[in-house]
Amino acid sequence: MSQIADCIVVGAGLAGLACSRALVRQGRRVLLVEAADRVGGRVATDSIDGFRIDRGFQVFNDAYPEGRRQLDLAALRLGRFEPGALVAEGSTLMRVSDPWRRPFTALASVVSGVVGPADAIRTARLRQDALRGFRSGLVDPDAPPAASERTTAAELAARGFSEGFVRRFFVPFFGGVFLERLLDTSAMVFLFDFAMFSLGRACLPAGGMAAIPSQLASGLPHGCLELGRRVRSARPGVVTLEDGSELVARDVVVAADGPSAAAMVPDAFCGGWAQRSWKSTRLVAFAAPRSPLARRTLLVSADPGGVIDNLTVPSDVAADYAPPGRSLITVSTRHTADSQGLEEAVRRQAQGWFGDATAAWRHLTTVEVRRALPDESPTGRQARPGMPRLADGLWLCGDHCGTASINGALASGRRCAEAILAAS
Ligand SMILES: Cc1cc2nc3c(=O)[nH]c(=O)nc-3n(C[C@H](O)[C@H](O)[C@H](O)COP(=O)(O)OP(=O)(O)OC[C@H]3O[C@@H](n4cnc5c(N)ncnc54)[C@H](O)[C@@H]3O)c2cc1C
Repeated sequence: MSQIADCIVVGAGLAGLACSRALVRQGRRVLLVEAADRVGGRVATDSIDGFRIDRGFQVFNDAYPEGRRQLDLAALRLGRFEPGALVAEGSTLMRVSDPWRRPFTALASVVSGVVGPADAIRTARLRQDALRGFRSGLVDPDAPPAASERTTAAELAARGFSEGFVRRFFVPFFGGVFLERLLDTSAMVFLFDFAMFSLGRACLPAGGMAAIPSQLASGLPHGCLELGRRVRSARPGVVTLEDGSELVARDVVVAADGPSAAAMVPDAFCGGWAQRSWKSTRLVAFAAPRSPLARRTLLVSADPGGVIDNLTVPSDVAADYAPPGRSLITVSTRHTADSQGLEEAVRRQAQGWFGDATAAWRHLTTVEVRRALPDESPTGRQARPGMPRLADGLWLCGDHCGTASINGALASGRRCAEAILAAS
């Protein structure tokens, strides 16, 4: 059978797109096959009644090194959240800000007692260490994990943070990023994220997160991408589609999510990564006549009993998320109540913060993302595949190979392409 391309890439998520682009740039003939009818994988946006609803709450950080390297940030027309967050405890909303970028707001947090002076000093040290580590390359969650990696909770305890500040700020804020409340995600991931939030801002592209993969795909040559083509199996140099037909190339890159990749490659190439557990999340979206928030802020909940992890108003932050004169409110939750019960519980909790204004919110949709992020605890990270090469002619990339983030997926795709180029 003749080769249809130099390289077949399976999966047009961010990793597959980044890998394909890097290969194409070096003159390789690439065929990118994707099971879905759109590119982007876990970065997706749906349209409902003129609202743009991301499939699970996520943000792009404009300090991500791979974003700066691979994306045209200006063309994404990024809207930026205010640094820090609004923390909800009971019906009280407290602002926790970044003293370097919002010194007066941050000072007010200290004066009002939301942040104790000792925790403010510890935060300053943490920021310094995270930035120094990032700049020197010591804080690099994509590097092979050390056996001594500890959890975020252990890192914060070792740094002496008070239990109250951890509960009020780190758990709701980083718990929202990690999609878990125990903070058992590796401290290496936490320090990197802390550096990113210190250097950059949480952003949304105009019209939704799907603008990111769309931009990457628009840089691919005509005919390179085939949508709606599900791959059944992949082995060195050969991809078998679901209809049984085979595609042959010198190299095959499996850029699917971890569990799909494990189902696709021969068992002999599956390591501990094939058994890694994944975290899930849900997003509840409402249409509202106006925004309940005074600023472009992320509201995180410190109430362990409440259903809401965080609440945002994307239409306050970036263009084209809602029709003119309307607001889009999204709530992120890990709660597993049925959709109706969840909507009511979200309304009840939000009513404690915003009063009767919530009565005017119209439920748009509830989105469930079962496999959102792989387990990034120190143990989970030990299971990552070490190298992109599984065998001669068979390669692996995706966020499960590096870090579970937009930055991690883009980096993994680029590195895989570089390894293929170096080997040929
Ligand atoms: C709800 C949620 C919130 C997140 N929040 C953030 C955040 O705030 N910031 C951040 O940086 N990151 C965040 N992330 C993580 C980030 O979105 C992911 O790490 C990244 O998108 C993963 O990209 P990927 O290419 O590795 O995998 P995927 O996006 O999973 O892409 C894999 C692709 O392979 C395709 N595929 C699978 N099987 C087959 C097959 N058999 N044949 C053909 N194609 C196949 C899939 O359809 C998919 O398109 C979040 C993720 C989720 C889900």
